[in-house]
Amino acid sequence: MWWTSSADPALRVDLRAALSSNLAPDGGLFCLVPERWNDWDDLLRMPWPDRGAEIVTRLAHGALDATAVRRAAREALDIATPLRRLDRNTYAFELFHGPSLAFKDFGARMLARLLPLVDDRPGQPRTVLTATSGDTGAAVVAAFLGVPGARAVVLYPKGRVSALQERQIACMGGNTVALQVAGSFDDCQAMVKAAFADARLAGDLRLTSANSIHVGRLVAQMTYFSEIAGKLRAAAVDDEPVVAVPSGNFGHLCAGLYAKAIGVPLGPLVVATNRNRTVPDHLDGLGWRPRPSVATPSNAMDVGAPNNWPRVETLFGGDLDRIRGALRWGSADDEATMSALARYSQGGIAVDPHTAVALAVLERARRPGECGVAVATAHPAKFAEVVETALGQPVALPEPLRDIATRTVPLRPLPADPEALIAWLRMGSKV
Ligand SMILES: *Cc1c(COP(=O)(O)O)cnc(C)c1O
Repeated sequence: MWWTSSADPALRVDLRAALSSNLAPDGGLFCLVPERWNDWDDLLRMPWPDRGAEIVTRLAHGALDATAVRRAAREALDIATPLRRLDRNTYAFELFHGPSLAFKDFGARMLARLLPLVDDRPGQPRTVLTATSGDTGAAVVAAFLGVPGARAVVLYPKGRVSALQERQIACMGGNTVALQVAGSFDDCQAMVKAAFADARLAGDLRLTSANSIHVGRLVAQMTYFSEIAGKLRAAAVDDEPVVAVPSGNFGHLCAGLYAKAIGVPLGPLVVATNRNRTVPDHLDGLGWRPRPSVATPSNAMDVGAPNNWPRVETLFGGDLDRIRGALRWGSADDEATMSALARYSQGGIAVDPHTAVALAVLERARRPGECGVAVATAHPAKFAEVVETALGQPVALPEPLRDIATRTVPLRPLPADPEALIAWLRMGSKV
């Protein structure tokens, strides 16, 4: 299958080319040119994650060695994906059973395993450089830990990630390093951008991005949407479900639209945001108005300028009416989020604030009798402070978090200055 560019719809490259750089040569985002597959009845009978590996292998057809891709994808996707029934026809599709306990594990692990397959300079180590507001950094560190030929450098805003997230990012050691920036997430992102813009540094260190616009993350996210349909069929539920996707940068929603475009039998996708309403406002006809983000309990979705949206536009030929026809949408304010979190957290099941946004929006977006699925993107223990406030009781830490909860965080403080990062990278690269 081919990839085009959001800036030039005439471009056609294969998956190898799309994986090899963060952006298309014209500066646009790589966008899938989907073809519908007709054997979903057979595909859906395959077990997860073999089916996921089959999807990635087909996406790579002709561009990468099939055996190597299948092995890499099979390993990356080897994470449980339970579909949990919350009431008669409402389900939570849990994507938080990977090492960092958030759905970003799928994309980060796929990226870590696919990059070596497109490496034209094996033997020369890469530096994977990432700015994070929390979840991405934890997933990237877990995914690249111990991967030969790569080291992960993650910048996070000191004091603005949760204590657990900080430990997940900073305490793994090995070939991973965390830098504490005295500033905001936007400062971290600006510093990373400046490092990539330094062509000599970028070349010497083979700087590689792991941010949400990378195709390696997107292909992983396409795969698991098939498992919603797979699990419902296995449970003899014939309805195509309405699927609510909690969204910030809209990589996840875009992957869901791609999955539908290659034929995964799902009903309408529901855009679910918190108070950062850039996309719902646009779909309501108020125009495209990116804006500074506002802080909410679902902080991994606090994005005011969603960077994957051009992919959605490209998929529908830039036609807003077609986009509207393919989606439903809505947002949940903080109160609606906390209320949904409390109402759905029952009988031993807890939901996290991001999943709560999806559930709150799903309630309003579905029609009577429709089967509804909320994509559950993070384990509630990752956002324990919020969940405990909503429920009035403590949340148990799962095993991987219990292990790191008592570690001390190694400190590598950095001022919020691009030059400081560039100097640090130069020094580090000589070691
Ligand atoms: C990143 C993230 C999201 C939003 O995903 P996008 O692809 O950026 O829209 C939702 N929930 C959680 C827990 C996240 O970490």
